[in-house]
Amino acid sequence: MEKFCFLCGKKGTRLKDGYCLECYKKKTKLVDVPKNINLVACKKCELYRIKNDWKKASIEQIILNNVKDLEKNVKIKLIKKGKSWEITATKGKDEVHKVDTTVRTMICPVCARKFCDYYEATIQIRGEFNDKIMNFIIDLMLHDERKDPKSFFSSSDVSGGIDIKFGNKKSAISISETVKRKFDCRVTKSFKLVTMRDGQNVYRDVICIRFI
Ligand SMILES: [Zn+2]
Ligand SMILES: [Zn+2]
Repeated sequence: MEKFCFLCGKKGTRLKDGYCLECYKKKTKLVDVPKNINLVACKKCELYRIKNDWKKASIEQIILNNVKDLEKNVKIKLIKKGKSWEITATKGKDEVHKVDTTVRTMICPVCARKFCDYYEATIQIRGEFNDKIMNFIIDLMLHDERKDPKSFFSSSDVSGGIDIKFGNKKSAISISETVKRKFDCRVTKSFKLVTMRDGQNVYRDVICIRFI
């Protein structure tokens, strides 16, 4: 029996998975792409809200994460076309999809904290400290900030030393412990009542590191 295409019934042609090449091209999709992708971005920084979490990402990455490969080893190319994006999936053929993005902006919790002067802990640097000590502390802070954007900090000169505000209490505590092991210093902790939230007292850790 002569083979024929499932779809158009054409005979005497090369078949692929039961379809003539023309129908095969039409029938098989390489990728599934949503027509529109809704994005929520922070107005002040480069974080995007992805699945209830705020993450550092680029719009390109987010679009690519929304492309579902229906076949293995599909090559994907993404280019911006005016206000839209064009995705070209390649595997034996080129398949072009157009994607629109809708971007809503809001302020992420990290920036909300930063700009509303929210912080969880303060480290007070006091006594006989020098540049070597400060550079050591700054390195620790930058390391934490890279790991977790919630670990932002800001420092200011005050009479008698430097105050560093920490967005993340854990980071402040671990840094003070590391510093204590490395340098001659006395570390004292106190708590300052800052506000009431949901009927609970909210305290801010104040860690004083006095170098001797
Ligand atoms: Zn056919
Ligand atoms: Zn932000």
